[in-house]
Amino acid sequence: MISLRFSDIRVDAIKNLYQQQGVEVEVLRLDLIHPGVSGNKWFKLSEYLAYAGQGGKKVLLTFGGAFSNHIAATAAACRESGVRCIGVIRGERVPTLSHTLQGAENDGMDLYFTSREAYKAKEIPEAVWEHYAKEEVYIVNEGGYGIKGRQGAESILDHCPRGRYTHIVAACGTGTTLAGLVAAAEPGQIVMGIPVLKNYTSMEAEINALLPPALHSRYTLIHDYHFGGYARHSPELIHFMNRWYEQTGIPSDFVYTGKLFYAVDHLVHKGYFPYGSRILVVHSGGLQGNDSLPKGTLIFR
Ligand SMILES: *Cc1c(COP(=O)(O)O)cnc(C)c1O
Repeated sequence: MISLRFSDIRVDAIKNLYQQQGVEVEVLRLDLIHPGVSGNKWFKLSEYLAYAGQGGKKVLLTFGGAFSNHIAATAAACRESGVRCIGVIRGERVPTLSHTLQGAENDGMDLYFTSREAYKAKEIPEAVWEHYAKEEVYIVNEGGYGIKGRQGAESILDHCPRGRYTHIVAACGTGTTLAGLVAAAEPGQIVMGIPVLKNYTSMEAEINALLPPALHSRYTLIHDYHFGGYARHSPELIHFMNRWYEQTGIPSDFVYTGKLFYAVDHLVHKGYFPYGSRILVVHSGGLQGNDSLPKGTLIFR
């Protein structure tokens, strides 16, 4: 059974590492909400779940791949809220499901597998309509992208002394979480996104679509830290993640937060942040994704 521990969220100050550069780095530990299921996804899903409940929908349907944190979190959050859910999964069903999909199925998600082409077009498998009428199904975009996702993510900053910081930095998949941070940030704060996908040139437009025009200039994306693309990684990244854990006690995942911390560390050493900056780094969770690495790759889970 899932138990959410929002009260366990805390801010960890990174001691000693960046004194020479004259900046303070603090990490908002959304990964502590739940040991298995990632942090920011709960926030993104909260408004969708509330809406599905009010709107008399029978089932929430969403999309993802075999290693999707969004699928894992949706299954767990729906179970927690007593909402039925369907996952439309990219690719054929294989005899041994990934950790992520097995976990989702154990949480009660109905999985429907589709071809890559059908997935790309976000087609809903015919079999779904054998069980539900169109108006009973509430569709949530892949990754929770959308206005409701942004609205849910706005409350992330309620869990820290938000006025303290000059910069707020987060990893970006769809950018929905970043949009929530931009909407919730105070005037003058700089919000920075680190995209983990390569050549994601439409990301800025997609983030802007979730924000009023006045906020479009309030954030910066830094595209230099994708390490070759989504879920790609290098020995250098893995080495960094292990060293970062030794130095700070903070675990990270190789898809999102490892790249995020690497980026912050690199930018601090490059002198990107002015002397006196106070940087909040949002640890968005995702640690369950590390289960797909060979055992022993990381010195932590
Ligand atoms: C999904 C995810 C993200 C990306 O969130 P978006 O709102 O899609 O940008 C970041 N970090 C982790 C750990 C995630 O699972």
